[in-house]
Amino acid sequence: MASSSASPRTSLSSTSDLAIRVRGLRKTYGAFEAVRGIDLDVARGEVFALLGPNGAGKTTTVEILEGYRERSAGEVDVLGYDPARHEQALKQRIGIVLQSTGVERYLTVEETIDMYHGYFPDPLQTEDVLDVVGLREQRAVRVKRLSGGQQRRLDVAVGLVGNPDLLFLDEPTTGFDPSARRQAWEMVRGLRSLGKTVFLTTHYMDEAQYLADRVAIIARGQVVAEGPPTALMGGEEAVTSVRFRLPEGAQGWPDLVPPGVRSEDGSVVIETSTPTAVLFALTRWAVGQSLELSELTVMRPSLEDVYLQLVGAEATSDGAGRRSGRAS
Ligand code: ATP
Repeated sequence: MASSSASPRTSLSSTSDLAIRVRGLRKTYGAFEAVRGIDLDVARGEVFALLGPNGAGKTTTVEILEGYRERSAGEVDVLGYDPARHEQALKQRIGIVLQSTGVERYLTVEETIDMYHGYFPDPLQTEDVLDVVGLREQRAVRVKRLSGGQQRRLDVAVGLVGNPDLLFLDEPTTGFDPSARRQAWEMVRGLRSLGKTVFLTTHYMDEAQYLADRVAIIARGQVVAEGPPTALMGGEEAVTSVRFRLPEGAQGWPDLVPPGVRSEDGSVVIETSTPTAVLFALTRWAVGQSLELSELTVMRPSLEDVYLQLVGAEATSDGAGRRSGRAS
């Protein structure tokens, strides 16, 4: 079973716990080094997200793991196999869901899944696949009549039908509307509850934050941060922002609350590592004065904030250090 994001797996001590182990991975295209010494550990049963800006080396890395590109140097172990050897046994244990796949548009959902069924020695039952991807009600619908989100879920069904231990999902929600994204997220959670290892690439930080047990952020071919999203976001010590508008007629300032900074739009922003105490003192003071603190919000830094900070730093400096969520 996967560790949940509430209690992330933080120790990957034994190689047998690992679905993927990468050490010192390098890839050069001519004189250009696209991947410059990457180490990755992906635990069995976890959802792992690889993040990074355009051109960072994500596709190169993923395709090396899938056996579609040759590496220039380093060690790669996927489910105990070296993907560079192109062994059939590995191919039967991984599922790959690309951004666009070519399923036959005139078949129904069920016919499509049944067709792929025949290619694998130990496939999942069609009923189970339909349940996991949430297409049971659409089983008799032709592919061409499915919505974009439903077609994407059918792509996942095709990747899943062979009962792989490890599923690669390439940007699974690009172009989705918000409700289709949520449905896709629940589907990925369903995969995790089946015990599958999921290796996800995405440009959406909220997606990685919601789904991933651990993430690695790469920039210019190197890992600049890795660990559980909560740890990368600063863990329990993260600075929290308390924001509100101070109404007309407010007298003084509450005890125990550090003075806030007034932003351009008139909001007050207090940054604190003890938000419970600050909120208690602030709201007690406001209630005592019969004041309503309008637009009161409490926010912690998101994975996107951390990502922008790291990737921005990496873009301007060769010497940006690697941040490890495990170390913090
Ligand atoms: P994106 O998010 O845009 O898909 P990415 O992180 O997947 O980007 P890659 O596609 O792995 O990045 O590319 C990494 C770098 O290697 C880029 O500078 C790209 O131009 C270069 N590159 C990728 N494939 C080749 C190739 N076949 N020949 C030469 N250069 C390549």
